[in-house]
Amino acid sequence: MAEAGSFADRVKQQADIVRVIGEYVRLKKSGQNFSGLCPFHQEKTPSFSVHATKQFYHCFGCGKSGDVFQFVMEMEKSAFPEAVRTVAEKCGIRVPEPRERSPEQRRENQQRAALVEMHRTAATFYARTLNSTDEGKVARAYLEERGLDDETIARFGLGYAPSSGDALLRHLKPKYAEKLLESCGLFSRDQSGRLYDRFRRRIIFPIANEAGKVIAFGGRALGDDNPKYLNSPETPIYTKSNVLYHLDRAKEAIRKNDFAVLVEGYMDTIAVARAGIANVVASCGTSLAEGQIKLLARFSRHVVVNYDPDTAGQAATERSLTLLLEREFDARVLALPTGADPDKFIQQEGPDSYAKRLREAPAYLDYLIARARAMDRSTAEGKLAAVNFLMPYAQRVPNRLLRSELATKIASELRVEEPVLREALRRAIAERRSEVKQKPELIAPVVRPAERRLMQMLVEAEGFRENLAQRITEGSYHKGLETEKIFDALIEAARSGSRPEPAALAESLAENDRRLLFEILFESAPEGTWEEAESCLSALKKRQLEHEIAELQTRLAAQPSPTERREIFTRAQEVRKLLGELQ
Ligand SMILES: [Zn+2]
Repeated sequence: MAEAGSFADRVKQQADIVRVIGEYVRLKKSGQNFSGLCPFHQEKTPSFSVHATKQFYHCFGCGKSGDVFQFVMEMEKSAFPEAVRTVAEKCGIRVPEPRERSPEQRRENQQRAALVEMHRTAATFYARTLNSTDEGKVARAYLEERGLDDETIARFGLGYAPSSGDALLRHLKPKYAEKLLESCGLFSRDQSGRLYDRFRRRIIFPIANEAGKVIAFGGRALGDDNPKYLNSPETPIYTKSNVLYHLDRAKEAIRKNDFAVLVEGYMDTIAVARAGIANVVASCGTSLAEGQIKLLARFSRHVVVNYDPDTAGQAATERSLTLLLEREFDARVLALPTGADPDKFIQQEGPDSYAKRLREAPAYLDYLIARARAMDRSTAEGKLAAVNFLMPYAQRVPNRLLRSELATKIASELRVEEPVLREALRRAIAERRSEVKQKPELIAPVVRPAERRLMQMLVEAEGFRENLAQRITEGSYHKGLETEKIFDALIEAARSGSRPEPAALAESLAENDRRLLFEILFESAPEGTWEEAESCLSALKKRQLEHEIAELQTRLAAQPSPTERREIFTRAQEVRKLLGELQ
């Protein structure tokens, strides 16, 4: 949120979150932290905590969390710039006149212009690599296989980042100062401090701002490299939560048709746009952020959400819906059959079929009611669970009349007596928390101590954070864990070299992961040593291997062919040996 070196960043450095929040909430010191009654939900015992050293807050009851600006935005219902101003004034920091161009601002502007130019050069470089090198040929073959022709590749400016590791660096180095190369997000530093290309052996999707200027890239691994999608980090010209992929080309069509189609990824966007539906944008992996919604609202308040039909997509859909409802959007949901993302669906069923589905996409409430009806409602508890699933959405609709209509509709669809439902709705609004308060207990036991420690070290360990991130990635230690997404976010942050910012990290995470992350970070944890990290890693490895043994045993029980049987035995032997080495 606060760009490094910006005024907001300076305010954040100087502001004391305890003092600012203390003006709204009576805080008491408990240990290293402060706690008080949560201002966001009704409670009798304090579950709202403020972390003085890490400068963030988290409510263990309702799950609200963030930095000093988020707190003020939420309390004052203000936008980011106003919140920065408010905090600055509270802390006695002089707010600069917006028109006044200080030398510092001029330098910032120059820097931003240079970064934009670098991105343009890089986009050209990636496109050329795709089109005219041997390595690029393999990438082209992949894209052709996915149904993308030359015209599409050119239209979306797709490119390819070669595997060499310094091709782009060599291309840009003669023209730009080291400092710029460092801050542009296109390069990382290795252990010896040398810069190298961030994107390697990846198909490149240029990400443009609303004005059509390339300000970041998304890269899809061509091989099995992890992560499958790698994006530019936040830079002075790129704030992830304020950019929608393809908006620059979609905005006119969104305005004209008065609705936007919202998909998850680059390939989905391209597929939908090629199907003749130009008003499509992508939130890019993470579910929709507040800033993206505000951006979209400038063009239309009608949106059809079409995320992947898997569980993650469903969760992202539901999270996005709550935000869209709060912003008084009229949302519909297009849920494609299992296994079909928009790209696949259009390839298999054709553009017309997709357009038809889009036209027939149900209103969000009908979508949610269908989901609630699929729950087992044969018992009273089941019925209550279905009602509780719907309540948070109904409760978020700001308009009272509309909310009341919703209650009637839910009541008739779920066959719940209306007075019962209205009472539940009333309670939900009063408490502003509904079912969420039970979640921490449900998640907590899943995270083993070793996982917990590694996550803390990825934040705390000044000395070896980057190396640790690299080690975890290389050994895929976090793959398959419930906390994989949190690890991904921490690793990405750690690899950028600077200290990970919890509030910024949390933006890319789903609700549950976000809560978990904050809870883990709240424990005061020492920096740790490399030896301790190693022992945690072995613990994770051990679990992975034990898991694999169990899987091999299941496969063996399914009476495999003799060849497969031999394979299983060989692998089991290897795994046991690896396990033995860990003991
Ligand atoms: Zn709370």
